[in-house]
Amino acid sequence: MVQSYSKNANHNMRRPVVSENIVHFMRTRQKQNEAHLAKLEAFAHQENIPIIPHETVAYFRFLMQTIQPKNILEIGTAIGFSALLMAENAPQAKITTIDRNEEMIGFAKENFEKYDTRNQIQLLEGDAVDLLGGLKETYDFVFMDSAKSKYIVFLPEILNHLTVGGVIIMDDIFQGGDVARPILEVRRGQRTIYKGLQRLFDATLTHPDLTTGLVPLGDGLLMIRKNTENIVL
Ligand code: SAH
Repeated sequence: MVQSYSKNANHNMRRPVVSENIVHFMRTRQKQNEAHLAKLEAFAHQENIPIIPHETVAYFRFLMQTIQPKNILEIGTAIGFSALLMAENAPQAKITTIDRNEEMIGFAKENFEKYDTRNQIQLLEGDAVDLLGGLKETYDFVFMDSAKSKYIVFLPEILNHLTVGGVIIMDDIFQGGDVARPILEVRRGQRTIYKGLQRLFDATLTHPDLTTGLVPLGDGLLMIRKNTENIVL
């Protein structure tokens, strides 16, 4: 059993924000993963490691094949599942992925060694808080799938490293539906995340220089397109 994730790691994934029969439909009727991605998905489920759910996998396939990004940044590697999914569907892309958890880094390294056959993926080890400022490149697609109270903290640095026309996707932003409730109805332990997410929505959803979309897949995706060079949040 993997040590790092408690039984509650998937708490919000078990409170789907759309009806369960639709979630079931999206997970079973869309093309399943094959080969190493199927193996890694099964391993993650068995070990309760929170990788993107299948409806998001299908959406990412579509997005990657359509956008064909050239330089991708990911925050939150875990075992490398989403990075390998992006690599497979955007074969020209270079992918930089960040994680700070030693145990996950161990799994990710092993999986990239075995399955990143085009050598597309570079893993940076450490906390994104420390690493983001040191990134030298710009990216045209950023996937943020880490601690969600930090999304608003990371956003200015991410926007600095995003090309105009580039896209950011942030995962798990509905907090199992809590974001649409008044704070007093939210469990105390969830309120720091709630406040961080509300700040994120306030800063982005109606920003004049960003185009945003909320997509109810999994626990929700926030999609942001950068429309001009200098974004003041
Ligand atoms: N994107 C992966 C799942 C990521 S799970 C997939 O779908 O396959 C979230 C990961 O984010 C965990 O492995 C955790 O260690 C990492 N993480 C959370 N906060 C982080 C931070 N501040 N810096 C680096 N990694 C972080």
